[in-house]
Amino acid sequence: MNDTMELPPLGAPVLDERPWAVFSACREADPSLFFATTRDDERAALVVCSSCAVKDDCLDFALDTRERFGVWGGTTERDRKKLLRAS
Ligand code: SF4
Repeated sequence: MNDTMELPPLGAPVLDERPWAVFSACREADPSLFFATTRDDERAALVVCSSCAVKDDCLDFALDTRERFGVWGGTTERDRKKLLRAS
């Protein structure tokens, strides 16, 4: 028996849940931008999303999981509330 415990690589749970994230435009961005406390940071996050190749996957995930906080798929929390109310 091996007496050292092997941990999964960092990020593995995220990639199981969101395999498309490896192609995201935000993968090297400051995560705090996407959970912004200022409109300027929120706008900066939306700029990153605007060129993201997996924006649709990201938005679908956020809507499916009812992500309440942050910028996902080029939408703010307010945008997603409106989308969910309209659906
Ligand atoms: S759409 Fe925005 S939040 Fe989603 S993966 Fe792309 S850059 Fe990140």
